[in-house]
Amino acid sequence: METLRGSAVSPGIAIGPIFLIQPQGARIVRKFLMPDEVGHEVERFDRALARARAEIDRLGEHVRGKLGEEYKVSEIFMVHLAILQDPKLRRQVVALINNRHFTAEHAVSEILRRYGKSLEEAGDSYLQQRGKDFEDIEHRLQRNLAGQTPEEAARLQTPSVVVAHDLMPSQTVAFDKEKVLGIATEAGGRTSHTAILARALGIPAIVGVAGLRSAALPGGVAIVDGTQGIVIAAPDEATLERYRARSRTIEGIEERTAAEVGRLPAVTRDGRRLTLEANIEFPEEVPTIFQHGAEGVGLYRTEFLYHTAENPPDEDAHFQAYMEAIRALNGRRLTVRVLDLGADKFPNAFPERNPFLGCRSMRLMRLYPQVFRSQLRALLRASALGKVRLMFPMIANLDEFREARNMVREVTAEFDASGEAYDKSMPVGSMIEVPSAAVIADDLAREADFFSLGTNDLVQYTLAVDRDNEHVAHLYSALDPAVLRLIRRTLDEGRKAGIEVSMCGEMAGDINNTILLVGLGFESLSMAPSVIPDIKKLIRSIAWEDARRIAEKALAMHSAREIEAFLVAETRRAVPDLFA
Ligand code: PEP
Ligand code: MG
Repeated sequence: METLRGSAVSPGIAIGPIFLIQPQGARIVRKFLMPDEVGHEVERFDRALARARAEIDRLGEHVRGKLGEEYKVSEIFMVHLAILQDPKLRRQVVALINNRHFTAEHAVSEILRRYGKSLEEAGDSYLQQRGKDFEDIEHRLQRNLAGQTPEEAARLQTPSVVVAHDLMPSQTVAFDKEKVLGIATEAGGRTSHTAILARALGIPAIVGVAGLRSAALPGGVAIVDGTQGIVIAAPDEATLERYRARSRTIEGIEERTAAEVGRLPAVTRDGRRLTLEANIEFPEEVPTIFQHGAEGVGLYRTEFLYHTAENPPDEDAHFQAYMEAIRALNGRRLTVRVLDLGADKFPNAFPERNPFLGCRSMRLMRLYPQVFRSQLRALLRASALGKVRLMFPMIANLDEFREARNMVREVTAEFDASGEAYDKSMPVGSMIEVPSAAVIADDLAREADFFSLGTNDLVQYTLAVDRDNEHVAHLYSALDPAVLRLIRRTLDEGRKAGIEVSMCGEMAGDINNTILLVGLGFESLSMAPSVIPDIKKLIRSIAWEDARRIAEKALAMHSAREIEAFLVAETRRAVPDLFA
């Protein structure tokens, strides 16, 4: 039995067999063939090569068909296809199989890593990026040699605890949700998108677990305690029994809390009313958010349409998704965020040295206006049929906001000309997730209809701490005084301009921050639906006057750790039974 620690990112307990996901670029076991096996091995390689080419062909066609020729994704596929069609590549792999009796896997890895390495050593950043292409191609060939389609590689046969070095959001959404009991990874931070997805799906998860893959071996059993941040590999019988009992207790508390406060309003003891909304990644989540007591959707991350659909979404696919959410919301508001593609979401769209600072979100939309346009058209059509708000991510200055809003005006002008119906007063807001946007919140507040604080990015950009990097996770805190001052500034400026300021970053869904946020004056917050019952219970247990005093005291402190310890103690005092 081995106990390992990491960051608890999605609460609950999972117990089950381990399903290990091999990372891209994993070491290939060296094995040599018998002379009479060589011919069969070459045939196996040829079949894998043909399948890999066909896959890329299909992917390239989809992207070209849906997004148009100039979309860079199709260019990347062309490069991959050209490499796979290069006769020299086949010649070199086959020579290793024939002459040195390498397995196809071993030969593929030897040749492609040789190419990749020579580009990485070229010292030119463009060529270094191309080195990544060879890694990708190798992964594709190795998967095809294992006879797996991309979907099969992610498909679990039995309910399991998924163990990986890291998981891309695209891998996480591809899982069969019924089969993933828990998730544990070596990489990642509290606000990485895998963590966010795990919370959305109610899957217990831990990230940043050092040494995980050497302790949690495939075929063994693991316990993931997503509340305490512990993974136990190969637990003994007594430990298993203890965790089974704890799991039943947690479920009992959750059910009681949800039943107690589910339909009640989020109102403090002295009568201050808050609106608690849900963050969603998929429209099919909407029917369940009401069971948790949500009053609407404060953030719909539409980029996940790219991960769940076979083809990149067109106007109709967007429209169908919005209508599914609108119907289920039955008059409650839906806040749709413009596609936040790039960075870790849809990572190969635009290979860059520094993707979190590059062509992400609105910057990518600016390069591909037709993609933005089709989303806007779908959204405006949907606005005629439900209560919809539109929100731009990653706004860093006023010109970016104006440019995006002008695009909305252009599309509404088309609707006016053609007589198509839409909501003429649909609110158009800005996320505040880049520090510069918080600094100029006064300017933005004059032109935006509402603000929503995206603290996941605001923290990483303010403190220069990668939200996905476990090695700097100790520096990543939404309670850092610098972050809190930006949040307060945004609230103050929004209030002065008379617009709503909400928060949809993960900070809003951490119960230890609730008293502070209520005390700062937030009137609406949006979070993972599963955390709403506890947070509602806390809000109903405190007085706004007390929360204000606590918030003032926290803001006068000088370190994130000090503030956190203070807020944790206040939270436990307010709702001791939630921590029993
Ligand atoms: C945020 O940055 O806080 C946010 C809500 O957006 P995302 O997590 O999708 O980047
Ligand atoms: Mg963000």
